[in-house]
Amino acid sequence: MSVKLIVLKLGGSVITDKKKLSTPNLEAIERMADEISQAKVSSLILVHGGGSFGHQVAKQYNLAEGYRDPSQVIGFSETHRAMTKLNILVMEALINHNINAIVVQPSSCVVTKAGRIQSIELKPMKKMLNMGLVPVLYGDAVLDSEKGFAILSGDQLVASLAINFGASRIIMGGDVDGLYTADPKSGCSAKLVQRVTLEDLKNQKHEIKGSKATDVTGGMLGKMRELIPAIEQNIQTLIVNATKPLRVYKAIKGEEVIGTIIEKG
Ligand code: ADP
Repeated sequence: MSVKLIVLKLGGSVITDKKKLSTPNLEAIERMADEISQAKVSSLILVHGGGSFGHQVAKQYNLAEGYRDPSQVIGFSETHRAMTKLNILVMEALINHNINAIVVQPSSCVVTKAGRIQSIELKPMKKMLNMGLVPVLYGDAVLDSEKGFAILSGDQLVASLAINFGASRIIMGGDVDGLYTADPKSGCSAKLVQRVTLEDLKNQKHEIKGSKATDVTGGMLGKMRELIPAIEQNIQTLIVNATKPLRVYKAIKGEEVIGTIIEKG
């Protein structure tokens, strides 16, 4: 696979209003599509989060805990439907900006075991990348060989795809400038960490927490835990604030940008 492959994640905090149920941030989606298009990246996989679309429905039916009774099954359908509604808005914006985007639905190509990816169908995506297409995936409800079903986070997908396709870089676009010494939304003074090593992360040098918003898959703490295996494979990871114009563009171009670089060490 191309050594130039970038796996880009657009956080649910960016493309939706996490405080309002099923509310997209159309302006942000449009701007993201524009920045990605302007950056003219040669090989790209895009993953987006669920924000106020997937998480609330998944929580309502306790999907993350797995299958307990038949009344949850409709919750699986509804969670997936909520995600497809958000995904279609992202797809429209991408294709309108001449990005060769193609949806890859995780619920149809991933099976998890106790919430961890057990199998993922990579062949079509490999061919898509070779064809110059941009596979677009998202956090989704998936079937689980142990629990019945599970919620697969976009973050887990990012790491798995980056490792499987030998990506050169991961860019995580979120609603904060990067990794801080503490949760920047907690009210206490937190400093942006510009560069961090795997060892720093493992030693929990910084106070990393979950998300304040309804999020069944874990905030910044969940993100870091998921990314560690990819960073271990020497895939450079950059966290930037995608709610601020041109940060994602600069990150894709490899230009200097405010954010956090995470390296193996
Ligand atoms: P997304 O929806 O973009 O995937 P999340 O909301 O799940 O992102 O996680 C990012 C959130 O994690 C941030 O908005 C922030 O409030 C929180 N967070 C907790 N600890 C930290 C930290 N040390 N540095 C940065 N963000 C943190």
